[in-house]
Amino acid sequence: MTDAFRDIWIGDQTLIEASRSAGGPVYRGPGDGGAAGGDGLPTLADRARALLEQQRRDWDLAGRGYESLSEVRVRDLDVDGYPVRVQWNPGRRRSTSAKVDARSIEARPCFLCAANLPQGQRAVPFSDAYALLVNPFPIAPEHFTVPARQHRPQRIAGALVDLLVLARELSPLYTAFYNGPKCGASAPDHLHFQAIPAGFMPLDGEFDRLRDQAGEVCGGAATRISLLDRLPCRCLALEGEDLEALTGAAMGLLDSLERAAGDDEPMVNLAARYADGWRLTVIPRARHRPSFYAADGGEGFLLSPATVDLGGVCITPRQEDFERLEAHHLRTMFDEVCLPAQALRRVVSRTLPST
Ligand SMILES: [Zn+2]
Repeated sequence: MTDAFRDIWIGDQTLIEASRSAGGPVYRGPGDGGAAGGDGLPTLADRARALLEQQRRDWDLAGRGYESLSEVRVRDLDVDGYPVRVQWNPGRRRSTSAKVDARSIEARPCFLCAANLPQGQRAVPFSDAYALLVNPFPIAPEHFTVPARQHRPQRIAGALVDLLVLARELSPLYTAFYNGPKCGASAPDHLHFQAIPAGFMPLDGEFDRLRDQAGEVCGGAATRISLLDRLPCRCLALEGEDLEALTGAAMGLLDSLERAAGDDEPMVNLAARYADGWRLTVIPRARHRPSFYAADGGEGFLLSPATVDLGGVCITPRQEDFERLEAHHLRTMFDEVCLPAQALRRVVSRTLPST
């Protein structure tokens, strides 16, 4: 297999220099006195952070993108006890209003294929099958995209274990996530994950509190399953230390979700974090965009929810949306795009007959 990413891999020495020049040492590289990976090698999390420093410094687009985060404005809203931070981020307009119908996708060059990446973009490898890239249009102070090295469709079957391993490799710094092809992925034709700082999303950072307030544990054994059906963002969380058991339990849940005719997988967003075991949050979806979604330039709100929005950081690229968005709009959004509580309970009872 030819590796189309070979021209943009970046070596450890360059990453060490990048982290030093950023006032490191963040990167505990070979000969740098660190043994972060347990075998004397830097972890993927270390490499990712150092890559970001290098890209911010040496790649204009990334430099400008992360600089522009200082202009992002936020408002905190409370949706029935669920904390949501609304973020006005003009840099995300292209992603939020991306046309993801088959014809539009076919008509454009794939922006995650190595051959089409911008000049200046560099990568570090994750396993033999993925590349870790800096996202130059960030929603968080650190934002990575992790595309498969081969162009293949966004599908979680067969890739879930990769998401979980990615979360472990990126711990403790980052949370990894997956947007289904009709659930916020702006490249539904090219398999990819993303990563942002752990705890950046309230659903991630405040998970224990939210579960205790609005959820219950409904499955045990090797994988503990919590049903958070009283949250506006109705979801399931699977926790466990056994990678195989967790993957099996999660695929069982995904298989029991309904899917639209012609779709290869149910609509879903996934977030994975690792700390002495995994926590995989599964957000089954009822629809792609809320009824008040506006095409760019149109009435309504330019709001196309994906994992991070549903996880409590709601991105609005237009100022007017940012200023008029209220808790009741968000409640409507959650009600429309998340699976109803009853349906979620049915999924759990089908998968776990004893509950
Ligand atoms: Zn591609």
